[in-house]
Amino acid sequence: MSFFEVIDPAFGRYVLGNAPVKQLATGFDWVEGPVWFGDANCLLFSDIPNNRIMRWSPDDGISTYRAPSNYSNGHTRDRQGRLISCEHGTRRVTRTEWDGSITVIADRFEGKPLNSPNDVVVKSDGTIWFSDPHYGIMTNYEGFKSKQENSCVVYKADPNTGELEQVVTDMNCPNGLAFSPDESQLYVADTGRMFSDDAQHLRVYDVDPKGNVSNGQHFHTIDPGCADGFRIDVHGNLWSSAADGVHCISPRGELMGKIFVPELVSNICFGGRAKHQLYITATTSLYRITLATNGIQTP
Ligand code: MG
Repeated sequence: MSFFEVIDPAFGRYVLGNAPVKQLATGFDWVEGPVWFGDANCLLFSDIPNNRIMRWSPDDGISTYRAPSNYSNGHTRDRQGRLISCEHGTRRVTRTEWDGSITVIADRFEGKPLNSPNDVVVKSDGTIWFSDPHYGIMTNYEGFKSKQENSCVVYKADPNTGELEQVVTDMNCPNGLAFSPDESQLYVADTGRMFSDDAQHLRVYDVDPKGNVSNGQHFHTIDPGCADGFRIDVHGNLWSSAADGVHCISPRGELMGKIFVPELVSNICFGGRAKHQLYITATTSLYRITLATNGIQTP
């Protein structure tokens, strides 16, 4: 069987004919939020309904990193390498300090609780950008069923003061997000199909050097499935979750190829010593495939 499908011949340069989609661990309920720690040679990811963050390492396999995790979802690292977490249960974004203590970055906007921060990225200036749809407060499956008090938007947070600014306000359910390699563009997924048929697409926004966002435009519609989570490679391609695996989208918004995964994919991240391995969180399992391209995510 083939683990991938080449649609644009250029995609053939990014895949290896003898590299499998390998299941690394299984037995979870709904995994999300993968983040690679090259310094510790391990991956952290959320098992949201089971209220825990898991750790997987090629050295010693799977273990629990943090439980309870406050129903954490998306993760990234800031420019100092610290773990940044979106938490559904506490409706906040946190930073884990080097001594293990937790700093709350943001939990309210204009005095009202956030919804359920979902995914997060840190810009090179240190600002923390996160999506805040209401998935984590709709039911008791991925958090605590609660009343929604703020709109579903993307925020930019000052990492020192926690001050929030709404930067993307034209979506039903903003979800995955990432910057282009030069940070002049921001990609955001709207996964609000359950509320509106026209709210299931990736949009791209211009970002000026001061971090102001403008000019949102349709970029691509993942089919089948949605862009719950995605990352960017060094060529500016966007690697996104989809219902049949992982889709690679060119900077022009065209589908270049697919990696097939046997479970519904939620999110991905690049890892390994050269950021050349794609770690894939997919429903009950963690998968990995080695590629011939490299992720840009830092550190
Ligand atoms: Mg997500």
